[in-house]
Amino acid sequence: MDNESKEEKKTNEVEQLDEETLFVVSQTFKALSDPTRIRILHLLCEQEMSVNQIAETLELRQSTVSHQLRFLKNLRLVKYRRAGTTLFYSNDDDHVINVLQQTINHALHH
Ligand SMILES: [Zn+2]
Repeated sequence: MDNESKEEKKTNEVEQLDEETLFVVSQTFKALSDPTRIRILHLLCEQEMSVNQIAETLELRQSTVSHQLRFLKNLRLVKYRRAGTTLFYSNDDDHVINVLQQTINHALHH
């Protein structure tokens, strides 16, 4: 194998994403494509909060917040801790929070 085709092979290896990775990446962008989910994730960047607290802070219905938290939980972007009857939600993935922060910075510099 000459050097050129070695380079080509390397490039191909880097570019090929498997089906599962593609699925997770596209689901992640889907999660970040909704303004309400963006607001919730942004709120949970720094602190854990109950459904009530999130709903009050963002002036949303509790059912709306619960629905979006389930979506985010399924993708393992948030987690919760149970304290009595209350669930406290927090960020469960620093990669996605970084993507969110970067994208917010991108929006702000325009
Ligand atoms: Zn930018």
